[in-house]
Amino acid sequence: MGTEVDRNDGHLPNTAEDDLRKLEEDYASLRDETQQLINERTTLEAEMRTLRKRIERLDENVNLLKMPPLIVGHIQDVLDHERAIVRSSNGTVFQVSLNQRLDPEKLKPGTRVALNQDSLSVVELLHEAWDPMVSGAEMVEKPSIHYEDVAGLDEQVESVREAIELPLVKPELFEKVGIVPPKGVLLVGPPGCGKTLLAKAVANHTNATFIRMVGSELAQKYIGEGGRMVRELFSLAKEKAPSVIFLDEIDAIGAKRLDGSTSGDREVQRTLMQLLAELDGFDALHDVKIIAATNRPDILDDALLRPGRFDRVIEIPIPDDASRKAILKVHLASMNTKKVAVGRIVERTNGYSGAELKATCVEAGMIAIRDGRSAVSQQDMLDAVSRLDNKRSQGRTTSSPEALYS
Ligand code: ATP
Repeated sequence: MGTEVDRNDGHLPNTAEDDLRKLEEDYASLRDETQQLINERTTLEAEMRTLRKRIERLDENVNLLKMPPLIVGHIQDVLDHERAIVRSSNGTVFQVSLNQRLDPEKLKPGTRVALNQDSLSVVELLHEAWDPMVSGAEMVEKPSIHYEDVAGLDEQVESVREAIELPLVKPELFEKVGIVPPKGVLLVGPPGCGKTLLAKAVANHTNATFIRMVGSELAQKYIGEGGRMVRELFSLAKEKAPSVIFLDEIDAIGAKRLDGSTSGDREVQRTLMQLLAELDGFDALHDVKIIAATNRPDILDDALLRPGRFDRVIEIPIPDDASRKAILKVHLASMNTKKVAVGRIVERTNGYSGAELKATCVEAGMIAIRDGRSAVSQQDMLDAVSRLDNKRSQGRTTSSPEALYS
């Protein structure tokens, strides 16, 4: 080799130089390829690790799916640190053994537990749970209604405040005088006259948790379901106290009990019995108040109206002239109006409910928008009244609120 270099003035012959360059190029490309393969291998290894974890998780899921279900029950009595009496969800009572890893402090009568299907031994402690319909009834956002928004019902507002707000805010006044404050009030009156509005204003002013339940939601299909929901409703209210339970359309479960009823009626009656029991049972709790509302006081069971239950029946009537004026003023206050004489509208809206008066204001606003104006005029209001009159005459035949309450 050395002699060849010498013979070519220190240069490699052309072919050898080319070979070397080619070899160097091959080496460089092989190096790149190796690096690329190493990178690929690292990525694949990472991917494999993720997939292995996924397989483990899926295996766990499969195992869980294969596991027999646990039975839910309640502890009735703890005999010693190894044995307890439990009632399973179908009502049967058993003496069972306890899982030694469970906290004995938390094993109390009434605790919800999971039981092994074969041995019925207590495997797990469960949280107390409420029916989703009951827990969903709690209004998380505080209602933004103030007493000033409830127009034309001054006497009724005063009466509700005395019965509901005062005991919640100043219970000592009642203690001093030595009387037990009312547990709740019953608001009666035609639809859309402000019953819900009033209940929301109370919840807002007392800073209490507002739990709203409609009576028809408590009228359930299966035996014992309605009663259980009533129990859970009160248990939720007690836990979230101070609280106001607003039971709308109470007539759905509070109608007069009759003989010769169907099985569905009997279930509704059981629900009512549970409600009465709950109303009687929470006298020590001054910080749970009930406001019930109905459009049909005439069909309510007398037991609900007995003193000690709904002591106060407050009538929320169809607004008279002065009340209509006040309601219109409340709703017009937030609107952009131009020379609207409320007096004329009051004259034209005899027999309107609060909701209908609000609808009139909204309709007038819609007329103005349709005409491309930004302010509501007197004519818009009068046109809106005519439209509502039309709707009323179409919708009302026999059962108008006025007819029902006159
Ligand atoms: P229902 O029996 O159908 O439940 P309700 O009596 O509870 O009816 P609300 O829901 O309180 O009626 O009223 C409906 C709407 O009508 C309210 O949101 C409010 O805008 C308006 N309204 C009713 N009464 C009044 C009132 N007295 N003052 C101001 N607004 C009112």
